Amino acid sequence: MKKGFIGITMSILATAGVALGTLSCTDTDTTTPKDFTWEVDKFDDIRVLRYTVPDFESLPVEQKELIYYLGQAALWGRDITTDQNCKWNLAVRRTLEGIYTSWEGDRTSDEWCALEKYLKKVWFANGIHHHYSGDKFTPEFSQEYFAELYNATPDEALPLDAAPRAELLTVLNDVIFNPASYATRTNQRDGEDVVVTSAINFHEGLTQAEAEAYYASIQDPTDPRPISYGLNSKLVKENGKVVERTWYEGGMYGEAIKNITYWLEKAASVANPTQKKIIETLVDYYRSGNLRTFDAYNILWVEDTVSNVDFVNGFIETYNDPLGYKAGWESTVNFKNMEATTRTEIISENAQWFEDHAPINPAFRKAEVKGVSAKVITVAMLGGECYPATPIGINLPNADWIRKEYGSKSVTIDNITYAYGKAAEGNGFNEEFVLRAEDRERIKEFGRTGDNLHTDLHECLGHGSGQLAPGVKGDELKQYGSTLEEARADLFGLYFLGDPKMVELGLVPSFDVAKAQYAHYIMNGMMTQLARIEPGKTVEEAHMRNRKLIAEWCYEQGKADGVIEMVKENGKTYVVVNDFEALRDLFGKLLYEVQRIKSEGDFEACRDLVECYAVNIDPELHAEVLERYTALGIAPYSGFVNPTYELITEGDKVVDIKINYTEGYTKQMLRYSADYSTLPTLN
Ligand code: ZN
Repeated sequence: MKKGFIGITMSILATAGVALGTLSCTDTDTTTPKDFTWEVDKFDDIRVLRYTVPDFESLPVEQKELIYYLGQAALWGRDITTDQNCKWNLAVRRTLEGIYTSWEGDRTSDEWCALEKYLKKVWFANGIHHHYSGDKFTPEFSQEYFAELYNATPDEALPLDAAPRAELLTVLNDVIFNPASYATRTNQRDGEDVVVTSAINFHEGLTQAEAEAYYASIQDPTDPRPISYGLNSKLVKENGKVVERTWYEGGMYGEAIKNITYWLEKAASVANPTQKKIIETLVDYYRSGNLRTFDAYNILWVEDTVSNVDFVNGFIETYNDPLGYKAGWESTVNFKNMEATTRTEIISENAQWFEDHAPINPAFRKAEVKGVSAKVITVAMLGGECYPATPIGINLPNADWIRKEYGSKSVTIDNITYAYGKAAEGNGFNEEFVLRAEDRERIKEFGRTGDNLHTDLHECLGHGSGQLAPGVKGDELKQYGSTLEEARADLFGLYFLGDPKMVELGLVPSFDVAKAQYAHYIMNGMMTQLARIEPGKTVEEAHMRNRKLIAEWCYEQGKADGVIEMVKENGKTYVVVNDFEALRDLFGKLLYEVQRIKSEGDFEACRDLVECYAVNIDPELHAEVLERYTALGIAPYSGFVNPTYELITEGDKVVDIKINYTEGYTKQMLRYSADYSTLPTLN
């Protein structure tokens, strides 16, 4: 599970020279070259940034080599992610790249720029749907212009393995220009067939009812250690029968997976014995597609809390499946930030105390919290669903029974939040949206500490807390499950951030850190995050829904006492928290109910909560937020280019690995498409 894809959220960092909390992360960055810029590109609602990898240079060479090989494995999954997001994505991307690299006509016209922008968006989203909202992009160039360029592109620059020339153009016209075709990547609208109406390439030729019947037929409800059914396959109908096309070396996506396992084996050859076994088990799983082996891998992986270098590589998160079974491919490669890890170690050492004091029904508390390990990490490579848009925290594995029996590993990605902060300095966000000077001051002083600790608590304790009632499987909440789960983790973090225990543990100097976080969280949930949504649309993404749910519920529950207030001043709307202690109590109350819903698998209550508070937007407020946001010129979404790594060898021996921060966005995308792309255009 992930926290983040920040953008607006992290505008809290929009202040230069903030006084960092005592346990905040490193603020020195020795790896930044002199001509370095944080922002490398900007288009539409997106800003592309760089991140740096502090302390990479001082790692032992074997660890650098391990990072290099795992990094190659991370890059080889890119096409899988793209194809998963919609079956025509690779055809669109490859066609546009073919046009982009071969067109010899005017490269300055408005239509050309619109086409270039569209391609940059496709790269950023790994497909034709917005990475966050899931809505299909609207091209700002005409179908005629596209045909003109397409017809001028030589055969060898087009993905004609998908279809003959003329046919491919017909399909692309429909996919790119027809707003009704593949309109939504993941449709979660209540009352619709979410399988048929979702463009995501997880199901084809079958209905929601057929998919649900299939899953019911393969599940063994008596298995206390169930595999993650359906996690690594596409569901299709063959001869009238529903079957799985499994993603493994000998099956769908095999050509990409072979390259992933090649580099994983190189990584295993330089890893320590513990990690060697972990990586080899992952390779076994990629070779067999057997989900029991995936569980075995996850257990080995979660138990390794010692290795300095770590990674995620596989079909991991199920947010984009409307039914919550199938996982998108992703990868990160990282190593520990020793200094900042002290902070998360304090939290995880006290995990049982937090569990015992969680404001939930004692029946739903874990009697014994197992192995919650938490660390602050520096990422060195991002791939698949984690690239270019990036989470700021990750907690894995996702299987409930493994979490219960073996615990989970939780990370906060410090060099990413650091880069966000640097890139947001002085953008005017707080001055525009935070009404009271005292709140602005607190955000300036404690914003980064509060954000980091909230992420730590969310990942390290929140997702791992609580337990299901006997007989509850965990998939009862269907399309509302992800939102509720994120709300649960966020509420856990919000509630305890304001607990006196945080001061006692030396993690914060005072309740002021919670005040800073609460003020920003509520403002973001009720108002500023709406800048990410197009006019007329509703909130769809699970993390955004969760934030809106929490903020709106607390607003309504505390309305009579004025806990949260909507203030109008000079025609502008502000969200102000008047009573922080009362707000904390409300977080606790909502957590009680959210945990009950999850533990009992209460679908009706879950749907009511989400549909009532998390989905619909007041159009007037929405328009105002968009206008004020546009006036500031801040792109609401950010993502990152990766650094490049170069092997330095003497004979056969790797003697060093050099890191470089000069590659631009377009160059990197074209290079990845050229060097890490062996999948057929249609899979
Ligand atoms: Zn989460």
